[in-house]
Amino acid sequence: MEKSQICENIEKVKGKIESTCKKIGRDSSGVMLVAVSKTKPVSYIQEALNCGQVEFGENRMQELEDKIPEFDGKKISWHMIGNLQTNKIKLIADKVNWVHSIEKLKYLKEFEKRSNGNKINALIQVNISGEKQKGGVEPEDLAQILESATNFENVTVCGLMGMATFTDDPEDVRHEFKLLKNLFDEHQEFNSGSVKLRELSMGMSNDMEVAIEEGATMVRVGSEIFGARNYD
Ligand SMILES: *Cc1c(COP(=O)(O)O)cnc(C)c1O
Repeated sequence: MEKSQICENIEKVKGKIESTCKKIGRDSSGVMLVAVSKTKPVSYIQEALNCGQVEFGENRMQELEDKIPEFDGKKISWHMIGNLQTNKIKLIADKVNWVHSIEKLKYLKEFEKRSNGNKINALIQVNISGEKQKGGVEPEDLAQILESATNFENVTVCGLMGMATFTDDPEDVRHEFKLLKNLFDEHQEFNSGSVKLRELSMGMSNDMEVAIEEGATMVRVGSEIFGARNYD
């Protein structure tokens, strides 16, 4: 991937978001593009930043911790989107803006404890694919977490995240996105205190259009912006 191509790719992805929103009568300002920069060098992030991209996602806590200080003082927003470990949450809790991958109440408590005044937008990851290795809480356990998350000061539980089954034809996973949207609607009754469900993080490079059609407010796009990865 040539660095100069990154801006072009971002414009292409934004174009897809716009045309999908237009097709279904949604306002494209209601879909946040998170550029997933995992495994990619800091220079790629800088390039994307230069062309106006502000939201960046990483899936490893150590990598995120290493990259954040490279952009000190810049207008940039960081999203943790991968597996969490309790003992590493302290590495990022005082500087990350969004966490998409909360699977346990324990993680929310640890972010709150280690936030040091940093405001964190947290999303509960829900298992919508039925594949255990993708992680996430089971749909029937969602209510219990939300009920216990209403009293945080620095953490806001502001939505749900889901990862669909990998597939060649994104139509195959439309029902998984529908499931997450339904859970999102059904659990609005749990909004209270620090629980304010308004974001739906779903859709990646290969299925973002279907996800937007089904109500995504955030899409997490990596390879289509930064090129293919050798590993995740
Ligand atoms: C890597 C990753 C993405 C982006 O995947 P692409 O297919 O490269 O767009 C999105 N979400 C999560 C949780 C990821 O780990």
